[in-house]
Amino acid sequence: MTTPNGPAYRRIATEEAFAPPEILDRYRDLLRDGGGDRGFQSLWGFYLGSTAERPRWVVDRLADLGVKRIADMDAHGIDHQVISLTCPGTQLFGTAEATALARHVNDVAAQAVRDHPERFTALAAVALQDPTAAAAELDRAVTQLGMRGVILNSHMQGRYLDDREFWPVLEAAEALGVPVYLHPNTPPDSMIEPLYEAGLDGAIYGFAVETAMHVLRIMSAGLFDHFPRLRLVIGHLGEGLPFWIPRIDFFHHAQVLSGRYPAMKAVELRPSDYLRRNVWFTTSGMAWTPAVMFVRDVVGADRVLYAMDYPYQCVADEVRELDALPVPPSELAAFYETTAVELFGLHH
Ligand code: MN
Repeated sequence: MTTPNGPAYRRIATEEAFAPPEILDRYRDLLRDGGGDRGFQSLWGFYLGSTAERPRWVVDRLADLGVKRIADMDAHGIDHQVISLTCPGTQLFGTAEATALARHVNDVAAQAVRDHPERFTALAAVALQDPTAAAAELDRAVTQLGMRGVILNSHMQGRYLDDREFWPVLEAAEALGVPVYLHPNTPPDSMIEPLYEAGLDGAIYGFAVETAMHVLRIMSAGLFDHFPRLRLVIGHLGEGLPFWIPRIDFFHHAQVLSGRYPAMKAVELRPSDYLRRNVWFTTSGMAWTPAVMFVRDVVGADRVLYAMDYPYQCVADEVRELDALPVPPSELAAFYETTAVELFGLHH
């Protein structure tokens, strides 16, 4: 809360997950039937199958868009959440079911925003299984339900957004002027095994490997040349990509010149230029001052903003750490509030 004794900014958290009970029930059905991919079975087999305290708490809070969630926000100093359907969303279902579920999820989220407009903004869920229907649902979610972006949970059953079949969704996002949040997913079956066998397939590391690769595929395919005004948001301080900038730029250039890979053709800018033009970076689970300062330095302070990753990584001390970032007050206000307001169009 912005109170006489509180900070001079609202804290807006921008990668905050929810899951309506109907989605969790369908995940339970899939688990029972042995459906979904290995990553789904690993992630949701744990969260929905474990009797331990933390996973039970996470599942309880995912389904809550009211009293409990708002009490947690108050306890942690969060004024506003940008909520989005948790991973893998509807992306592992058949086309008709996924399309219907995405619509239902958006109606649920829109109701929560209507009930608590000061506390919640929502990103749309869409079913990439039918890109034309997904573009239409994004349009409905933005123009009729007031949503301020779209969440995509990385790979679509092992396929990536550099595949032009998915581009109608990105075209719609660019035309509507709303950002695309590219959230991690567990790696597809073609990639997961060495991560899974070591316990590294999820948020600890596999998410970042898979999502960072996805972003590089997008850049390398020229997607940002085709959609120069597209705004992509990635979490976890950029999934490691800012740290890799000089090596990625060097070898991207060298490989394009060599003609070594048919899929890696010349694009207009260096990979790092796209990071500084088309990508925004949220902290989500990376409330670590040296890393935040580094990413601000190499991609620009005006494209690094706060996220908690509630309820998965809900750490009481992180707001205290980030309140003390060694930056001027105006930049702290941008980090917590005004960059999110601009990016997601949260002006009332
Ligand atoms: Mn997340």
